[in-house]
Formats: sequence, structure tokens, C-alpha cells
Amino acid sequence: MTHAQDLFNQTPTSFSFEFFPPRTQQAAESLYDSMVRLEQLGPSYVSVTYGAGGTTRELTRDLVLRAQNQTGLNTVPHMTCVKQTEGELRDLLAAYAQAGVSNILALRGDPPSDAEHDWGTERFRYAAELVSFIKDQAKPLGHPDPRGFGVGIAGFPEGHPGTPNRMAEMDHLKAKVDAGADFIITQMFFDNRDFYDFRDRCELAGIRVPIIAGIMPVQSVPGMRRMSELALGMRYPAPMLRALRRTDGSDESVRRVGVHWATEQCRDLLDHDAKGIHFYTLNKSGATVEIYRTLGVSNSKQLLEGNDLGI
Ligand SMILES: Cc1cc2nc3c(=O)[nH]c(=O)nc-3n(C[C@H](O)[C@H](O)[C@H](O)COP(=O)(O)OP(=O)(O)OC[C@H]3O[C@@H](n4cnc5c(N)ncnc54)[C@H](O)[C@@H]3O)c2cc1C
Repeated sequence: MTHAQDLFNQTPTSFSFEFFPPRTQQAAESLYDSMVRLEQLGPSYVSVTYGAGGTTRELTRDLVLRAQNQTGLNTVPHMTCVKQTEGELRDLLAAYAQAGVSNILALRGDPPSDAEHDWGTERFRYAAELVSFIKDQAKPLGHPDPRGFGVGIAGFPEGHPGTPNRMAEMDHLKAKVDAGADFIITQMFFDNRDFYDFRDRCELAGIRVPIIAGIMPVQSVPGMRRMSELALGMRYPAPMLRALRRTDGSDESVRRVGVHWATEQCRDLLDHDAKGIHFYTLNKSGATVEIYRTLGVSNSKQLLEGNDLGI
């Protein structure tokens, strides 16, 4: 398994997929099939989310360990701070270290929306503290890599809703990198100009770690609404909304526009030297496979060397 510090040097653009742990055995089997199918595309890594407030702690761990032990996938578990004790997170890290998990995505998580959250009771208030904790724990827990875990963090091209002051927000992002983060995965965005501007602002702030673009192929209108609730601050650009309004509104036509939009975003990101593209798969393999086919990039070797077509 490959540490983040090596991972992003192996290919000009990494490709990765995000999954969430299902709650039923049947859904778990179907997700596992999707993961095996997507493994054939040779992703640099796959990541597994951590339910809000640690609600999927065991499910996340079990899926990560299964993928890690039974497939050749490089698995990156997400880990969050909200409502998590130091002991719970240390136990998880111990299981991951033992299984040879190389990298972890360290996040704050969101407090429950239905109640006023008491931050004073939390062991970790911000993701930067979790980054330091993960870095410090690797050695005592006997991680096989002398560098310990590689750590990824979240970045928000359109801004995080909790910090309207974008200069302060950049300071907080820099603090996570200074705490030891090795790479950034962005929130989903649908206008690449937001990503390029974010990347430039990071560069100006002295942030030198790889910044991975988060891409979500839209698959349905209810899904779009759900996402705009979950990814607060993110917007769907007018040209995309117009393209959707021109369809007959059927699921298939919405999906076709969504996949086409995401494919064009990816093509443009490749042209602009994005260090990586992270697909929010929503546990389905179809859209991602289609995008790969259209882009013609089925593995990192092809990305690295290209095809000599004489053009
Ligand atoms: C790629 C990706 C994956 C995700 N995966 C998950 C997941 O698996 N599970 C889940 O529950 N959520 C997940 N999320 C959502 C994420 O947890 C929330 O968006 C959360 O609100 C922000 O997390 P963060 O790690 O960026 O937090 P932080 O970096 O801690 O920032 C949170 C807010 O606090 C501010 N801040 C940071 N430091 C300070 C400081 N010292 N003083 C004052 N303000 C500060 C920041 O500017 C920001 O507004 C994911 C998000 C992304 C982009």
C-alpha cells in the first residue's frame, strides 16, 4: 500500500473513488461488487466515509478492512472529530495500522443539525488537531511505515459555510497543512474556475501539497437537492441548470447530462494539470466507468506516457 507522499508522484493525475458504508448486508454486498468492478480501472486509492457523529464507525472500519484484506485497493478511511473520544479514534487507528492502511482523511465532521452543539465537550475541536493526533499516534501504534500514516484533509473551493471570511479560512487550511497534512481533497464543485482560483490562492498562501479535485456526476434531481443540503456553499452553475432544463426531465436524460458535465470537467482538469480527481461515486460504478471510457484513461501508465498517435 502506498503512502500519500509517494502516491501522488507515481502519476501526473491520481484517480480515486469515494464510497459510503451501507447499512444492510445486501447493500454491503452490492457495494463490494461495485468496488471490485472499479478496481479494474486501477484507481490510485478509494476512500470510505465516516457517518456524521461517528454513526458508521464500525461499518466504516469493517468495509475498510475487508477492502484492504481482500482486494488490491489502496483504501483511505475517513475519520471525524465530532462526538468521538480519543480512545475510540486510537482503537480505530490501531486496527488500521495493523492492517497496513497507509493513509487517512482527517475531518472535523458536522455537528448534529437538530441540537445546539456543545463544542466544549469535544476532545478535538478542529480537523487540524486530529491531523496532529493521527501523525503522533502512528509510531506508538506500530505503523509499519516509518513515516506513519499519510493524512489527507478537506478543502472548499467555494468556501466553507462556517467561515465566511475567506482569508481566515485559508489560514485555517494552512494550519492543517502545517500540522502535517499531506494532501487536500476538495468538496465537490461544478465550475472548474472555482477550483483553479482555490488552487492559486493555496499556492499564494504557501500550501504546497497536492490538491485533489472532487467531482460528482449528477445522477438525479432529488440527488442534486440532497447534495446541496449536505455540501453547503456549493452551487450548480447556470449553464448546467440550463442543460438540465432542456431535457425531458426523465432520470435517464438527467443522468446523461450529469455524466457529460462531469466528463467535460475532468477533461478540462487534465488539461490544467490537476494532481488528482476524486469521484464521489454515491456507491455506483456506472457513471465513473462511463467517464473513464470517454476520457480514454483506464490506468496510470496511459496517463503517464500517453499514446503515440502521431498527432
Ligand atoms: C473530501 C471531503 C470528505 C468528507 N468526508 C466526510 C465524512 O466522511 N464524514 C463526515 O461527517 N463529514 C465529511 N465531510 C464533511 C466535513 O466534515 C464538513 O464539511 C465539516 O464542516 C468541515 O470539515 P473540515 O475537516 O474541513 O473541518 P475544519 O478544517 O476543522 O474546519 C471547520 C470550520 O472551522 C473553521 N476553523 C478551522 N480551524 C479554526 C480555528 N482554529 N478557529 C476558528 N475556526 C476554525 C474552518 O474555517 C471551517 O469553517 C467531508 C468533506 C469533504 C470535502
